[in-house]
Amino acid sequence: MSDEDKADDRAGERREMLRLIESEAAETAHWLGKQRLDPAVMEALARVPRHAFVPRREAAQAYCNEPLPIGLGQTISQPYIVAVMTDQALGGSGVGPGCRVLEVGTGSGYQAAVLAETGAEVWTIEALPELAAEVAERLETLGYGGIHCRQGDGAAGWPEAAPFDAILVTAAATAIPPALVDQLKPGGRLIIPLGPPDGAVRFTSTQRLLRVDKAENGGLSERVILPVAFVPLVTPPAEDR
Ligand code: SAH
Repeated sequence: MSDEDKADDRAGERREMLRLIESEAAETAHWLGKQRLDPAVMEALARVPRHAFVPRREAAQAYCNEPLPIGLGQTISQPYIVAVMTDQALGGSGVGPGCRVLEVGTGSGYQAAVLAETGAEVWTIEALPELAAEVAERLETLGYGGIHCRQGDGAAGWPEAAPFDAILVTAAATAIPPALVDQLKPGGRLIIPLGPPDGAVRFTSTQRLLRVDKAENGGLSERVILPVAFVPLVTPPAEDR
């Protein structure tokens, strides 16, 4: 990050955003099964300059606890959802350092940066070539050049880097992609929104954020975390696969 960006890092607004996330987590404690998100996850969110991940025209809104458009019909997820997904993926088990995490749906790169700030090694896949090119450059510029980026169909996972401790899918699938379950370590977690592409408001949505745990013996267990509204998982253009 340049000195100019550091001087304008909007840390005060970011603290206020964290407060909004904490209060929404407390309000939804009955869904989450806990009152508070892992402090290490909140610290990671406190370090990522969300304003650097949104289009210039949305910059003023960057620290509202809302999803924002990032172009091509895609969105940067709501900060509370990013916090919940990171917490479900890594929270409680010695967050981050040494963990291998795959994200499907790089989008703006914000979720990937939050994962990297926990100390995890991050692999992320984006379907749309324009977004993939843009985000790799942004992550590099912001000092997140250690994140491994690729353009392609995230439903196929990243077999060469597997197995992963956690996999996060940030677009809604109609069924769990089998490759992602295969690429999960025993003891690993898959966090994925499942349901039709309804694009509705969160609590009237028919999509559910699901957590799939793979036991040491390979057995799978599923739990619903929250009602959610994600953009749908798409199949990338054939020439780019
Ligand atoms: N995690 C993002 C939010 C992503 S929105 C962030 O922090 O900003 C969902 C993203 O998933 C979009 O960028 C969309 O293009 C991408 N996507 C949709 N289908 C995909 C697929 N099959 N493989 C990889 N990415 C996909």
